[in-house]
Amino acid sequence: MTDEFTTQIYYEDDVDESYLENTTVAVLGYGSQGHAHALNMKESGVDVLVGLRENSSSRKAAEEEGLEVGTPAEVAAQAEIISVLVPDTVQPAVYEEIEPHLEEGDTLQFAHGLNIHYNQITPPEHVDVTMVAPKSPGHLVRRNYVNDEGTPGLLAVYQDTTGDAVQRGLAYAKAIGCARAGVLETTFQEEVETDLFGEQVVLCGGVTSLVKHGYETLVDAGYSPEAAYFECMNELKLIVDLMYEGGLSEMWDSVSDTAEYGGLTRGDRVIDDNARENMEEILEEVQSGEFAREWILENQAGRPSYTQIRQAEKDHDIEEVGERLRDLYSWSESDGEEDETPEV
Ligand code: NAD
Ligand code: MG
Ligand code: MG
Ligand code: MG
Ligand code: MG
Repeated sequence: MTDEFTTQIYYEDDVDESYLENTTVAVLGYGSQGHAHALNMKESGVDVLVGLRENSSSRKAAEEEGLEVGTPAEVAAQAEIISVLVPDTVQPAVYEEIEPHLEEGDTLQFAHGLNIHYNQITPPEHVDVTMVAPKSPGHLVRRNYVNDEGTPGLLAVYQDTTGDAVQRGLAYAKAIGCARAGVLETTFQEEVETDLFGEQVVLCGGVTSLVKHGYETLVDAGYSPEAAYFECMNELKLIVDLMYEGGLSEMWDSVSDTAEYGGLTRGDRVIDDNARENMEEILEEVQSGEFAREWILENQAGRPSYTQIRQAEKDHDIEEVGERLRDLYSWSESDGEEDETPEV
């Protein structure tokens, strides 16, 4: 464990994997996170079952990897740890199917705390409720594990009936490869609120909006869409890679002095006090549950507005230009896996 940080961070040596001995883990869902957790745990020597609907198109993929597959109810009945890795919006319905099979001392395990935190799932008092949330798209959780690398993760305990919830959560985190990179202790509330804020304001919402507004400003001023695409979207990856490797300093060191001076003097004019107020407003919608209510109602209504804005995003000019330009890269032959749309 490392004490210099404000948060407890666990690494492999802090974990006692015997907490998963004689334990069967049921992984419900075989999507982005599900396939990664199931395969990583299996290769770490854990007994794993996969829970999928009878007609699920993922069944074949799981079986081809040598995983035993049953319905969510069947595998939950056989397992002591039930890891709920179906999409957040279908978790309450799948939970109804497995609830009768939650025995005294079982663990209900999540990778995101939305349904627990906003009371869409209310587990019985006789089970532990934990969260091991890799801070990464599922496909990288798998790729990193295979490459003997790790993915940082969060661990939270919502309910600890057995007294072993932290130890079992850590053993689970180690088995999927998170303890190689560090497991941070947090709460369901903190994970949910920071995850939703991060994806809405910075990672998914903020960055796409920045890219589109930059692109549109250049194209509307008469510059070519190709130049605007390379400047506002393609080069972003190179800049983010530098920040990932060495923080803001490495990025500033690596760009020209002209870029550094221009960026340092202009950036705050783009993301200004007004934008900061909007960020605080969005955080309040997350904290108050207003966003969660909106998202739940949107799903109950059959996703009318989501479907529409999703299509508008696909139809944006930058997508057409980008697709055309990326097809010209000699190395752009896709390996298929990258095409999945991961969730953060
Ligand atoms: P996903 O959409 O990739 O996959 C879900 C899988 O669930 C599908 O492949 C299917 O096998 C199965 N499924 C769908 N509907 C089902 C049903 N009605 N009954 C049974 N099985 C069904 O899901 P995901 O993005 O991996 O998300 C799983 C959980 O992990 C969520 O709580 C999410 O917030 C969390 N999470 C995801 C990521 C990510 O990288 N995608 C990152 C961190 C946390
Ligand atoms: Mg059971
Ligand atoms: Mg430049
Ligand atoms: Mg996230
Ligand atoms: Mg998320």
